[in-house]
Amino acid sequence: MSQLMPSDITAPAPGELQIIAEDLYWLRMPLPFALDHINLYLIRDTDGWALVDTGICSKTTKAIWARIQDQLDGPISRVIVTHMHPDHVGCAGYLTESLRVPLYMSQTEYFASRALFAGAQEADNWQDVLYFQRAGLDADTVRKMSTGNGGFKQIVSPLPLSFQRLRSGQVLAINGFSWECILGEGHSPEHISLYCPERRLLIAGDQILPEITPNIGSYSTQPDSNPLAGYLSSLDNFSHCHSDTLVLPSHRQPFVGVHARIAELRAHHDAHLMTLRNICQKPQTIMGILPHLFARDLNEHGMFFAIAEAYAHVNYLLAKGDLTRYEKQGVYYFTV
Ligand SMILES: [Zn+2]
Repeated sequence: MSQLMPSDITAPAPGELQIIAEDLYWLRMPLPFALDHINLYLIRDTDGWALVDTGICSKTTKAIWARIQDQLDGPISRVIVTHMHPDHVGCAGYLTESLRVPLYMSQTEYFASRALFAGAQEADNWQDVLYFQRAGLDADTVRKMSTGNGGFKQIVSPLPLSFQRLRSGQVLAINGFSWECILGEGHSPEHISLYCPERRLLIAGDQILPEITPNIGSYSTQPDSNPLAGYLSSLDNFSHCHSDTLVLPSHRQPFVGVHARIAELRAHHDAHLMTLRNICQKPQTIMGILPHLFARDLNEHGMFFAIAEAYAHVNYLLAKGDLTRYEKQGVYYFTV
């Protein structure tokens, strides 16, 4: 099957369809964040087009979806979502409900989206407060960070009440081609990437990104979790991908070189872990660790993810027995 090389391909403007391989379109949706776009993909299906990921839900993206559907030679036949983050799942409910087509998602990602959409529902946020206090934030910032945000619901449309479950290793037939569901952990709990060995195409989602590293965080919902171990071990699930596979990621440009990129991602985390082992010769707090892991200045949004990323790295070293943790005046300290 002939494929264009990624270097020949310009990113599509919002609302444009860019052919990236035969019967496969690459689209982009704008995002109102520092990372200002998400890549989406349409795969020709027997009765239309199977869509992978959807963009956040807003007036702008709904208008773009109308433009896209006008240009397609068939309907969107089903919607596949790699994971629960709003840029991926945002328009899934909007599209599946208005088109009356099925939603495909892993079980954890589907129910986590439903739960996030439902919000705190009167539950107290004391554990969120503890999570930020223990990181060493001042009282004012703790209050700001831990007062619930309706953020998810503002950019995600209501999810349909039923879905088709995707599982690790399952094979989806799309227009006569087999697409394998590859499980990824760490960035989100049950992330699904789609690999077509015959066509050497990998729709990677956020699990493998070029240039930027997927966020791996221990959030207040599971402050003692070890997502980095899950992330690193689930990268092995891609080991059978052919080395000349065209990787179609959710952000930035498609690329060839899946194994080289995986090696870089591992090296990135190894370097962070090495830094932590070094600086924790003296006891450190999460806030003290941040400047060693992140070169750039962090705004509040960035800080939220950076704290989770720092927790994930210390939790990994705690689980390995390389660090220990103690609490002093409500703040966690980490040391070798
Ligand atoms: Zn994500």
